[in-house]
Amino acid sequence: MSAAELDAAELDAADPLANWRARFVLPDGLIYLDGNSLGALPAPVAARVGDVVARQWGTDLVRGWNDDGWWQAPERIGDRIGTLIGAAPGQTVTGDSTSVQLFNALVAAVRMWPEGAGAIVTDAGQFPTDGYVADSVGRLLGREVVRTGDPYEALRGGEVAVLAWSTVDFRTGQRWDMSGLTAAAHAAGAVVVWDLCHAVGALPLRVDADDVDLAVGCTYKYLSGGPGSPAFMYVARRHQAGLDLPLTGWHGHSRPFAMEAGYQAADGIARGRIGTPPMLSMLALDAALDVFDDVDLDVVRAKSLRLGEFFIAGAGEAGFEVITPREPERRGSHVSLRHPDALPVMAALIEAGVIGDVRPPDVLRFGFNALYTSFGDLARALAILGEVVESGRYREARFQVRPTVT
Ligand SMILES: *Cc1c(COP(=O)(O)O)cnc(C)c1O
Repeated sequence: MSAAELDAAELDAADPLANWRARFVLPDGLIYLDGNSLGALPAPVAARVGDVVARQWGTDLVRGWNDDGWWQAPERIGDRIGTLIGAAPGQTVTGDSTSVQLFNALVAAVRMWPEGAGAIVTDAGQFPTDGYVADSVGRLLGREVVRTGDPYEALRGGEVAVLAWSTVDFRTGQRWDMSGLTAAAHAAGAVVVWDLCHAVGALPLRVDADDVDLAVGCTYKYLSGGPGSPAFMYVARRHQAGLDLPLTGWHGHSRPFAMEAGYQAADGIARGRIGTPPMLSMLALDAALDVFDDVDLDVVRAKSLRLGEFFIAGAGEAGFEVITPREPERRGSHVSLRHPDALPVMAALIEAGVIGDVRPPDVLRFGFNALYTSFGDLARALAILGEVVESGRYREARFQVRPTVT
């Protein structure tokens, strides 16, 4: 064993989360470092989805909306996610995609301000959807959209209605200080819409304590809700009564079954519902969340930081440029390296049984879910990465294609 593998064996022996891996279904021998894109399958999901399909849908049929609690699922599952983001019950709702939730939240946030007043400030390097949606909302509502790398400066620079920011940057893994940035936005008179996609399930969040206004997030990444599992929206209770959401579907109506001609928003977080949600995905997510019932996100975070440290040290020693901040408080749960041939390098890694992903043009991304990633996984991944690059094997013709859609 190499020195790194010996260190890894010691760290794994002392890992309080070592036996959580058994709660996930992962192929033997595979090193999965892409749980930040699509989380691994939690053990309870397959049987639950089987039951939902065969019994609930198959025999309960339309009665499932009442008898199986389908109707209440968006708020009930929202509250389960709420416990993971530091939200008291009644402020989180699930349904639709992150892109849809972002649009809904951002328009509602801008509508809190008088017409024409104040810009939307958002992150220049962020996930494409977030930038595209901000631009569209800006055009729709006649607001300037400022894309910047320095939100504090933008907040000092002019009238800002809304700050829309991601807790953890999808590309670099940089983590932002939600508490400090939210306070700075409020001091400048702006409301905040946080995107929690790369943070929820990976680190403790305190949206209530941090005085967050609105937040959205993905459930198929660290929460392992499954491909296309519904996203969520958090609306702080103080904003709920006046929240003017643009997507006024019948599920968000105060009396949905009265089937009235005019829209009247429901009280509370129910107004964040839109239309009929994808119930199979919703209930797969519900089963996945069973894994998180007794999880301590402080323990998850502590291990995740050590995994990151271990990987950054190994990659640095091997001569890779690490673009993820080294300071623990400025890191999320993935680490990104720069390599000019990132795509073929990742293709060669995947062939060798190490799955990460690539973000253009030159970023190799490795995500760590502390619930199923071991230090041994990282030592092996680093050894294989070193071998692939040093040998130049990634230059072989079969690796000159896009490896995977993630
Ligand atoms: C993953 C991710 C999304 C995904 O949006 P979808 O609508 O689910 O495709 C959006 N924003 C951020 C910041 C993400 O990390």
